[in-house]
Amino acid sequence: MPEPTTATTAPCHVPSEIDAVIVGAGFAGMYMLHRLRGLGMSAIVLEAGTGVGGTWYWNRYPGARCDTESMQYSYSFSPELQQQWSWSERYAGQPEILRYANHVADRFGLRRDIRLETRVTAAVWDDGKRRWQVTTDRGDTVSARYCVMATGCLSNARMPDFPGRESFRGEVYHTGHWPHEGVDLAGKRVGVIGTGSSAIQAIPVIAETAAHVTVFQRTPNYSIPARNGPMTPDYEQDWKTQYDARRAMARQTRNGILANFNDKSALEDSPEARQRQYEARWVTGGTTFMASYNDLITSKASNDTAAEFVRNQIRSIVKDAKTAELLAPKDYPIGTKRICADTNYFEVYNRDNVSLVDIRNAPIERLTEKGLVTGGKEYEFDAVVFATGFDAMTGTLLKIDIRGRDGQSLRTKWEAGPRTYLGLMTAGFPNLFMITGPGSPSVLSNMLVSIEQHVDWLADCLGHAQSRQCNLVEPTQQAEDDWVAHVNEVAHKTLYPSAASWYMGANVPGKPRVFMPYIGGVGRYRQHCDDVAAKGYEGFRVEGRVGERVG
Ligand code: NAP
Repeated sequence: MPEPTTATTAPCHVPSEIDAVIVGAGFAGMYMLHRLRGLGMSAIVLEAGTGVGGTWYWNRYPGARCDTESMQYSYSFSPELQQQWSWSERYAGQPEILRYANHVADRFGLRRDIRLETRVTAAVWDDGKRRWQVTTDRGDTVSARYCVMATGCLSNARMPDFPGRESFRGEVYHTGHWPHEGVDLAGKRVGVIGTGSSAIQAIPVIAETAAHVTVFQRTPNYSIPARNGPMTPDYEQDWKTQYDARRAMARQTRNGILANFNDKSALEDSPEARQRQYEARWVTGGTTFMASYNDLITSKASNDTAAEFVRNQIRSIVKDAKTAELLAPKDYPIGTKRICADTNYFEVYNRDNVSLVDIRNAPIERLTEKGLVTGGKEYEFDAVVFATGFDAMTGTLLKIDIRGRDGQSLRTKWEAGPRTYLGLMTAGFPNLFMITGPGSPSVLSNMLVSIEQHVDWLADCLGHAQSRQCNLVEPTQQAEDDWVAHVNEVAHKTLYPSAASWYMGANVPGKPRVFMPYIGGVGRYRQHCDDVAAKGYEGFRVEGRVGERVG
């Protein structure tokens, strides 16, 4: 396995004219660059961080690891890469995934076209030239035919605006912006705000050395034991000998993960059989618990059986009955907020140095010099960790001043929620593409599967345009309206909209409540995108000279 690279390559030159600007050097941006080079296009990746890896570059909190198995959460586009790379654990930790990202950057010679420490601040469409003017915080302006937003769905970390934040004298961290040099919390009194996936991974690790950890919980989460462990040679070999077939199958599943999907309703089984099914999944571990039955996200009655099983597991693990009840989610269906996978999360509350504070009815009032106040009581800390999540899916895009046809800003267009065709483009913003954008399966799926599908589709689309001397791709308003209606219709056939989740924008005050990802399933969505392409990019205008439809 290659040595870790910290990627301090000298910044590459930003040309003033280029075929494509790609924003972000995570897994999406790197693969996009690779595919565009294959088309003979000139492309540059602009990345705010000092290294590649996207989400795995930023999220370095203790315990950070992927909760999709590494054999599946990895690129499939290169048979040599997938055969030669070895993962050390069933679920790789953040440092190993970052090493993998760096390995990919080196292996495919990507660094020479990646400009680090360069944040894109604006992108403005010039209709006369049919090009994007992309501006960076370094003062560069690049004119690009195409602009690909590979900006990630969970990349705009959210710090709640508590009064007095500046007055706190101790250390302040956000899980999504963890210092690269690491943080020593040993012997310290630590407050953790939030109980989402990041907190659930971080708390047990922080508790190992901290003097005391106080967790402030607004909403409890359903979490399944990850059952992480070392990769065994047999398991690895089993995957590697059947990689092509398994990857092909995963692409046809609901969420891009091979998961032993049980295609029957939970209500078809007797209570005893259901218990056995859930227990077996609990022992296997992982978020694929939701594949126990085929109707857990559509039938409340079925969902209740799975939710109650998990609540009972929590009650059996956590010794203090009051704490167990606080940790057991009761007011939203399991899986409708992102289900978590953990290592010793519920067990951690049996430690003497961990306590839980319920802030549902007593929100954090303010930060003080010494700590924070909730329910009229001050808690004192040496460090406060914000595990408060992200302005998901749209936050990073809307931070950039994106202006399309007639100067229309994306912020204005998406005021009432994101509107896209296939999660790939939005009408009025020609030649601007999103990788895993809102309206695509994206965060509901194995991100690597969805990234590769989008990048491949887009590379084929641009190859199609190129071969016909076209220089403009844009969805029609009608295609977008129909797709948005479809995305909503499918979402509302499920239980998802009933939870105040970040999928709905509910974690950001003032954000429109719209179910953002497409829940129709990765396989079905892929088929739909392929059909669109096969019909000459139905719903898109693919044009050469102004007004001339070629595609
Ligand atoms: P998150 O799921 O949005 O959780 C944020 C937590 O902070 C929630 O418990 C939230 O409570 C709480 N919170 C937010 N604002 C608050 C406020 N003003 N006062 C009190 N509490 C507040 O964020 P995350 O844990 O960083 O995870 C985000 C997503 O990243 C995950 O859902 C997952 O998709 C991905 N992720 C994946 C992995 C993995 O693969 N293992 C690991 C980490 C993250 P409410 O629930 O009440 O809003």
